[in-house]
Amino acid sequence: MFKKLVPRQFAQTIYDINLEELWRNGIRGIITDLDNTLVGAKVADATPELINWLGNVKQLGFKVVIVSNNQELRVSAFALPLSIPFIHAARKPTNNAFRKALALMDTTAEQTVVIGDQMLTDVLGGNRLGLYTILVAPIAVNDEGFFTRINRRIEKLANNYISKNK
Ligand SMILES: [Mg+2]
Repeated sequence: MFKKLVPRQFAQTIYDINLEELWRNGIRGIITDLDNTLVGAKVADATPELINWLGNVKQLGFKVVIVSNNQELRVSAFALPLSIPFIHAARKPTNNAFRKALALMDTTAEQTVVIGDQMLTDVLGGNRLGLYTILVAPIAVNDEGFFTRINRRIEKLANNYISKNK
């Protein structure tokens, strides 16, 4: 269980991810979390920096799907202006939304990366299906809701467990 919480790669932000390297390694599809991965949880719209990054992602040839556990209103209002497909109320880490995203992009598990800020949803869900996983540092931890804070506490425990049992 704990092994599945460990990402294949860490990055401080999405902008620190080496996209060219992912492409060289055969990655063709990006499943990305929204809140605290692309923008802060309380930020409604994409920032100019993010729009620029998404342009770069598309130019390199990647397909992208936003997969979020948040509700439709939040996710659609964010994703529609960007013309990026999305899955809301995704119930990560369960498999369904990830499978749906692979179908949308027409990529295999081996060709797909999951980018997110939470081990218990993004990383665990991706690892369970054999996707490549990248954990980013959450953008705005203080803006987060109650359950997310509990998740983080469990993550901390898991991290301690992992470092003690290496
Ligand atoms: Mg998140």
